[in-house]
Amino acid sequence: MKDFVIRNKNNIWYGIFPALERAGFIHACSCRLHGDSAIVPGTLNLALHVGDDMEMVLHNRKAFAEAVGVEASCFTTCQQIHGSKVVQVTEDLIGSGAFDFATTVSETDALITNIPNVPLLLFYADCVPVLLADTETGAIGLVHAGWRGTVAHITFKTVAAMVEAFGTNPQHLLAAIGPSIGSCCYEVDDVVREQAKGYEEFFLDKGDGKYQLDLWGMNSKQLKEAGVSAENIVVSGVCTNDNYRLFCSYRAEQGKTGRMGVCLCAATR
Ligand SMILES: [Zn+2]
Repeated sequence: MKDFVIRNKNNIWYGIFPALERAGFIHACSCRLHGDSAIVPGTLNLALHVGDDMEMVLHNRKAFAEAVGVEASCFTTCQQIHGSKVVQVTEDLIGSGAFDFATTVSETDALITNIPNVPLLLFYADCVPVLLADTETGAIGLVHAGWRGTVAHITFKTVAAMVEAFGTNPQHLLAAIGPSIGSCCYEVDDVVREQAKGYEEFFLDKGDGKYQLDLWGMNSKQLKEAGVSAENIVVSGVCTNDNYRLFCSYRAEQGKTGRMGVCLCAATR
């Protein structure tokens, strides 16, 4: 079976990881097909922070929620500032940012929770979504990892936060890396490499101070360092820049794009 498959329900298209689904975790990585947006008309932008028409975004979110089978009013979001702060979603935070950006969990790039059926929702256009699912306790983590968050070890820190908050044994974690920019298309310069000590192996030297950077590899390394088994790490292998007609890509569209949403719910155990 493939590690990542595309589905369609009610004309809403999204990708899922069969391994996560088999373990009982509701999740989805939205495609940009259909929907409505004032930024890129006819696309399913799910983010409120990119200057889009608010009514259109909320309509898109409702359609996405219905297709995935979650409650749109419970979407719990965070501000995503390319930092490395991890916040535990407790009852009082459910629905943060569901209907307006002002109430989103501030200055945070990863959320964890053990409350079942609360859809965490983070937004991406080339940055790396890392989905974490504790098959023993049902707890989850959802990470937004661009290069800045990755060099700040956000994925490692999110696993550590789950260990601390829920007693997660990393050996029981399933980890999935969603559609995002691949090393095939991600050129960076010395500024990035100088801040990525210990990750030199993921920079392919192109000469003239340019490198192709493998963020999937960097985040996989952090997962393993945090105790996740290599066989429990699934990579979608989908490059958003190559597949910008299906997923949102900041690079492919020169910044004029919406955001895809990745949704993940904790499971009942
Ligand atoms: Zn690519």
